[in-house]
Amino acid sequence: MALHVRGVVLPDDEVRDLWLTEDRVSLQPQPGAVTVSTGGFILPGLVDAHCHIGIAAGSRAVRSLDEAKKLAAEDRDAGVLAIRDAGSPYPYPQLDDDPDVPRLARAGRHVAPPRRYLRDIGVEVPAAQVPATVAAQATAGNGWVKLVGDWIDRGTGDLAPAWDAGTLRAAVGAARAAGVRIAVHTFSEEAVDVLVRAGVDSVEHGTGLSLDLIDEMARQGTALVPTMINIETFGDIASVAQDRFPGYARHMLALRDGFPAVVRAAYEAGVPVYVGTDAGGGIAHGLAAEEMLLLRDRAGMPAVDVLRAGSWGAREWLGFPGLVEGGLADLVVYDEDPREDLRVVRSPRHVILRGRVLR
Ligand SMILES: [Zn+2]
Repeated sequence: MALHVRGVVLPDDEVRDLWLTEDRVSLQPQPGAVTVSTGGFILPGLVDAHCHIGIAAGSRAVRSLDEAKKLAAEDRDAGVLAIRDAGSPYPYPQLDDDPDVPRLARAGRHVAPPRRYLRDIGVEVPAAQVPATVAAQATAGNGWVKLVGDWIDRGTGDLAPAWDAGTLRAAVGAARAAGVRIAVHTFSEEAVDVLVRAGVDSVEHGTGLSLDLIDEMARQGTALVPTMINIETFGDIASVAQDRFPGYARHMLALRDGFPAVVRAAYEAGVPVYVGTDAGGGIAHGLAAEEMLLLRDRAGMPAVDVLRAGSWGAREWLGFPGLVEGGLADLVVYDEDPREDLRVVRSPRHVILRGRVLR
């Protein structure tokens, strides 16, 4: 049975009738369609372009498909209808077409350096094994691999690249050869420099970006997923580390303090910026709206560009077509215009995923 929705469709800003047949959109009237919503503002579903439904609170791997589904449902019920999972220690390819789960763009496990990254989350390998591990994880995901570009080095007491520059470049080459896109975790200045110039597809966090690198990203079309919610936790990380690693603690605070200006500069330079919460582990799911508000309030992005970053633009980037003929039947409806008051995204009137009304 077809559904019918009418309202102002964004970003085109036109009153339109949409018909939803199974999980597809049609602009042609469908016989016998049931009208489920009239009025309000209609967006393609929101996107969390960096979260982890395979990592539970406490930074441990989920133990079942059901546990991953529960985490995904927290995002979904907040209007997030497409997720890019930026690294999962628990494989869940069975959820790719699950009717209850948002559209999924998935990396396999994080590829990480030995004994430095979060325990039991990544595949930890020395430099010589990085390219082969990237290739193996490329087949575990559905189009993405995730590389940990830097992390604390407890030997030096500060952030440091995960491996040498040649290995970082080889990791990017291995992802290319495997035909997948590569997302890289970076906090510091050093690793991100090598990785951006090696042509990664997306920089996650990116607190160490210089203006030079931002220009390079704009030229290449490299995406930035700032995860501002995560960066706000750097103060807590620094407090815990203060006694043993004071240099690291100072570095993290400086990166945090400089970050709104980095995101603002990236946006102004034309770098594609996307909404990602980094939920999973220390950050709760369902906070995409809060990340959107941070992008506006801290980084100064205009509301309409934040909406692009967290809806139609991100969907296009991830390969999930929006509200066009033959597009995917995922949408959210808001009572008020989110371009006028972005806080509106906190409370969708309707959430429709794969042609089913969930709210
Ligand atoms: Zn993450």
